[in-house]
Amino acid sequence: CGIVGYIGFRDAYPILIKGLHRLEYRGYDSAGVALLNTDKELSVYKAKGRVNDLEEYVKDKDISGTIGIAHTRWATHGEPSNANAHPHYSQTESIALIHNGIIENYAVLKAELLKKGYKFQSSTDTEVLVQFIEYVQNLNNCDLFSAVQIALNQVVGAYAIAIVEKGNPDQIIAARKSSPLVIGIGEGEFFLGSDASPIIEYTNKVIYLNDEEIALIKRNDEPKVFTISNVETTHEIKELELN
Ligand code: GLU
Repeated sequence: CGIVGYIGFRDAYPILIKGLHRLEYRGYDSAGVALLNTDKELSVYKAKGRVNDLEEYVKDKDISGTIGIAHTRWATHGEPSNANAHPHYSQTESIALIHNGIIENYAVLKAELLKKGYKFQSSTDTEVLVQFIEYVQNLNNCDLFSAVQIALNQVVGAYAIAIVEKGNPDQIIAARKSSPLVIGIGEGEFFLGSDASPIIEYTNKVIYLNDEEIALIKRNDEPKVFTISNVETTHEIKELELN
């Protein structure tokens, strides 16, 4: 039910956890985080329960890295459990994705992927989306951003998503339809939130994504926003009221 993201020069984990705490008011049943360390390895940690349970779980884990995404889940498909918590991995574990919303046509997509031999770790609609993205990427032999665009064109439902990729510590991909998503613009750092509450203590400059838009948030560049049909869109940077 909540999304936080960070890419920049600071340690991502403390910012992500603080952000999840700020989003707790929305309600949730589990929490998780995906991080890329300096070796460009992708790690996913998740736990049923409170954000504090997640913090307990990662105590002896590698939580280094200056890029990451984090999630609080309000289960719609699949019971609250460690396996159903987000982030979810693609088949080769090279993509990690978090999602707010519902993929309405997940059953059709899942049946197709099962036929192709894909294995699933959870009973969520969300895992179907990340597996489908990797499937589309392999099929089209394209980059991840294009694969997400192509995949989202075949998705029915509501989503705010954030994606990170193993081996690529310099970008977060984010997209939304019917679920809110805000990008925070700092100095040499960027934030993501399902609302401004995890962002506001770092910057008051934000971009609100529109329905069916996808953003490429690169480490040292202005975020680029496209529609899922690949038309580039320009966005006014809005100022949040600081209080
Ligand atoms: N439909 C997804 C799930 O049940 C996401 C729920 C949410 O918005 O937190 O895992």
